[in-house]
Amino acid sequence: MVTSATSAQGAGAADGSDRLIISCATTGSWPTKAQNPALPVTEEEIAEAALACREAGAAVVHIHVRDAEGRVTCDPTRYARVRELIEARGCDVIVNMSTGGGAGQTTDEERMAPVALAPEIASFDCGSLNFGDRVFVNSPPFLRELAGRMARHGVLPEIECFEAGHVENARRLIEEGALRPPFWFQFVLGVRGGAPATVKQLVHMVEMLPPGARWSVCAIGRAQLPMDVAAMAMGGHVRTGFEDNLYYRKGELAPSNAQLVARLVRIADELNRPVATPDEARAMLGLRPRELAAKETAAKTDHATGAPV
Ligand code: ZN
Repeated sequence: MVTSATSAQGAGAADGSDRLIISCATTGSWPTKAQNPALPVTEEEIAEAALACREAGAAVVHIHVRDAEGRVTCDPTRYARVRELIEARGCDVIVNMSTGGGAGQTTDEERMAPVALAPEIASFDCGSLNFGDRVFVNSPPFLRELAGRMARHGVLPEIECFEAGHVENARRLIEEGALRPPFWFQFVLGVRGGAPATVKQLVHMVEMLPPGARWSVCAIGRAQLPMDVAAMAMGGHVRTGFEDNLYYRKGELAPSNAQLVARLVRIADELNRPVATPDEARAMLGLRPRELAAKETAAKTDHATGAPV
């Protein structure tokens, strides 16, 4: 008999059909150019990084935006600008917008602002935790409100779990009907205050998943690469990028986000995990095909004013 945990872990991977979805989190809330001069910070730089990551093999880019001083902001006009710049270059990468807001630096309402832009994916931080010296609050009422807005705007929540209790929170929201399939989880391991970045933790969290869920892992600092490789071997998906790690190897800064993606593509090739294109990832994650989404957007636009209706 196949248990729900086993089928969740497989999620199509057991027969080799699940292509590897590579996400790249290019910027995050906290890294600075002083730490790595290649960090993309302006909308133009973030869009350029997204294009290069797509070229290297990423299906998804996870976006944060910064203000003129380089501080984290949830300003929807900046998010919209990044997506416009990416689309203007004909790039098909899936844009995932953060609703994290810098873990305690912004209000709940500000954090939800990007959802109204109807990104294909947005992050959904599925519980509270200490985050370094800060506290990252994600109360159940906030999560219900965020889930409701994502559903109304047709946004796929990327259910970020920083420790095993967050997977249980997700299961409760699913039971309540606040979260509905398809389920896409991101395990964020190695945050100070969350679960450590170990294979044992990852296996435990994967075993807690609801049936049919797909999952990805990201890990902080030097744990990024080994946990990504573990996830590939387990049939999961992977995230890399400067949000979580600025180094290529010990003592050597990564020259770009794209080079972190390119390394994962080479490893995936050796492991016989074909890499998903953005459109293949859309099909796997239940996102609307691009042509259909474009038609729907056009249909919803008031042609007299050009404004969405
Ligand atoms: Zn993020």
